[in-house]
Amino acid sequence: MKSYENIFISSLTTMRIGGIARHVLEIENDKDIPEAYDFASAYWYPTYIISGGANTIGRDEGLDGVILLNRLRGFSDNDGTLTIMAGENWDNIVDYACEKGYTGIEALSRIPGLVGAAPAQNIGAYGQDLSGVFKSATAYDTASRKFITLEKKDMQFAYRKSIMNTTMKGRFFITSVTLELKKGEMQRPFYNSMEKYIEDYGCTDFSPKGIREIVTTIRADKLPDPKEKASSGSFFKNVYLDPIESEKAMEKGYPVHHGKDGSKINSAWFIEQCGFKGQLLYGMRVNAKAPLVLINESAGTYANLARARGQITSTVYDKFGYWLEQEPIEIINTKNRGARL
Ligand SMILES: Cc1cc2nc3c(=O)[nH]c(=O)nc-3n(C[C@H](O)[C@H](O)[C@H](O)COP(=O)(O)OP(=O)(O)OC[C@H]3O[C@@H](n4cnc5c(N)ncnc54)[C@H](O)[C@@H]3O)c2cc1C
Repeated sequence: MKSYENIFISSLTTMRIGGIARHVLEIENDKDIPEAYDFASAYWYPTYIISGGANTIGRDEGLDGVILLNRLRGFSDNDGTLTIMAGENWDNIVDYACEKGYTGIEALSRIPGLVGAAPAQNIGAYGQDLSGVFKSATAYDTASRKFITLEKKDMQFAYRKSIMNTTMKGRFFITSVTLELKKGEMQRPFYNSMEKYIEDYGCTDFSPKGIREIVTTIRADKLPDPKEKASSGSFFKNVYLDPIESEKAMEKGYPVHHGKDGSKINSAWFIEQCGFKGQLLYGMRVNAKAPLVLINESAGTYANLARARGQITSTVYDKFGYWLEQEPIEIINTKNRGARL
């Protein structure tokens, strides 16, 4: 296991914000994991797992603790049952599946990051999400200090949610993920923006490779490439509504969308209505084409990001009464420094 000291979190995340992490341990084998957690417990250090860093925000104070950097590699395919080590690049797996004619993850093309993080927020896009094909994951359980298997029912998947980013945040280190894919293709009706693109450009190939191409083109037009522009993708989640809330929102004339996964208002609409689209707030650019995306143009610090976030969330709340929820997860310095009597 390689180990490093005093590494800027900004260098490990696509938002490129965050102070120094005291220790970074590179996990290349399963056996590195208990060793890394034992080291952290010996010094009462908090821990945080980073895979690709595309959904993680560092704070300016950094982490007086240990970052476990997931670098577990390997992959097998048993007739569409793919078992993938957590450190494989997600989009390489989508590419492989599409080449093989497997359906189930083609609409999740070009989502940055590694496989181990995908179940954490149940990655989703254009009408598919990971839960649709997830079979199980193997993980190191820091509570029992054992390797275990997490079945789909254990994960409590919902929109951008699982036990990994809610009730059991930080408890498991996922080492591999098993997906069940089938040969075939997605069925219409597709997601609105895909249908519009298909109509505008007369697309007829809806095979996994065809959908991958459509999604790739739509995303390239709307979303910043993390290699060129620092962001975490969508910074805010969409607002999901129960039937009563949905009724009230419609009475007020808000654009409520009803889909397979419930009723929602796209948070981009609120941001746009408040006049933030394309604006630069404390060095954070509200992306003009996809206003849910905040780009760190010159903010540099978490303090500036927090100011920009505060301005957006409080303005939306004052005008519409909804509090936008942040999607990326923050690294919080939780070290117990003791108490004085
Ligand atoms: C330009 C852009 C576009 C994006 N588009 C989408 C999109 O369309 N849909 C979508 O859902 N997301 C999207 N995202 C968000 C992001 O790509 C996904 O959340 C992705 O799964 C993050 O992977 P990662 O490896 O970079 O995660 P990281 O940021 O490294 O980790 C994310 C979370 O998972 C935890 N974690 C990571 N690895 C493990 C592991 N092995 N075991 C246990 N916990 C782990 C981390 O501790 C952290 O809390 C986008 C991001 C960007 C920058």
